[in-house]
Amino acid sequence: MFECPFCLGRLPSCPDCNGTGRIEVWECPNRRVKQRHLDVCSAAVFLEMGGVMPSTGGWAEQSATFLDALVIVCKERAHYEEQRIKAASK
Ligand SMILES: [Zn+2]
Repeated sequence: MFECPFCLGRLPSCPDCNGTGRIEVWECPNRRVKQRHLDVCSAAVFLEMGGVMPSTGGWAEQSATFLDALVIVCKERAHYEEQRIKAASK
């Protein structure tokens, strides 16, 4: 079970967590991962490494979907980096 990355528990009508703020995982998460999800992860790395965005132009030229997905990826990466640092300090 993990916190809903889509609404963070703030949206009672969230279709992903049904308003609970938590998502239960009953199958291998890799079964739910689609190529478009991996593309956003790759784009986040490219952006971090060299400021390269998937579409030409600046932030205003990127799709709203990509920007929404990028926020989720960045939050998840920050969360797991925090977990890694906590685990390393024990
Ligand atoms: Zn939710």
